[in-house]
Amino acid sequence: MEKELAVKNLDKVITKVEASRLRVSEHHIVKIIGISKYSTAEDVKTLYEVGQRAFGENKVQDLKTKKEDLDDLPIEWHFVGRLQKNKINNLIDLSPTLMHSLDSIELAEELNKKLEAKNKKMSCLLQINSAYEDSKAGVEPSEAVSIYKYINENFENIRLKGVMSIGAHTNEREVVKKSFITTKNIFDELKPFGAKYCSMGMSSDFDLAIACGSNMIRVGSTLFK
Ligand SMILES: *Cc1c(COP(=O)(O)O)cnc(C)c1O
Repeated sequence: MEKELAVKNLDKVITKVEASRLRVSEHHIVKIIGISKYSTAEDVKTLYEVGQRAFGENKVQDLKTKKEDLDDLPIEWHFVGRLQKNKINNLIDLSPTLMHSLDSIELAEELNKKLEAKNKKMSCLLQINSAYEDSKAGVEPSEAVSIYKYINENFENIRLKGVMSIGAHTNEREVVKKSFITTKNIFDELKPFGAKYCSMGMSSDFDLAIACGSNMIRVGSTLFK
């Protein structure tokens, strides 16, 4: 990836984020996570050099490889993919800044047990399947608040920081919007319990996600292609 392209892509995303967030409020701050799963460590470095600081991966092994390759840069690494039980220890060892995809009590229990054994903590978001799609991970919206509280109260090594959703997989903006609003309402209900981040919005829908109250977006193809 050429530096000029990185500047152009990042400017395009920032300009769109600025317009969307200012429509909500000048106090509404949105964090951009560059999802580097389609890209090389070299591309991440190029984007870092033009100002992007937070990146995310959806596979533990890819996170490990890129993090190690770019060890000399103060990059903030996020994990956004489905976490298999046999990869939990590997993820813990990578100390991600934020794990976006805690998607069941069972996973929380396993993760907590392994964190405890290593005497470590991990900041996580509860993933909510607000699009009600079988292909998507996440807890049911109707159960999200009680599961969040349960994890908060029972798993001391997990620090819940908010919620994450992937928008409905359709071109119908109204349907996508509805899924985002579902997550935003849950987020608002969880704020008294420490929820700070509402992670939603990807390349195709982050403007809509921000309009619905997202304060953390995960942008891959628009940044890297
Ligand atoms: C790949 C991925 C993204 C980024 O997707 P783009 O459409 O390329 O922006 C965001 N979130 C998750 C969980 C992903 O797996």
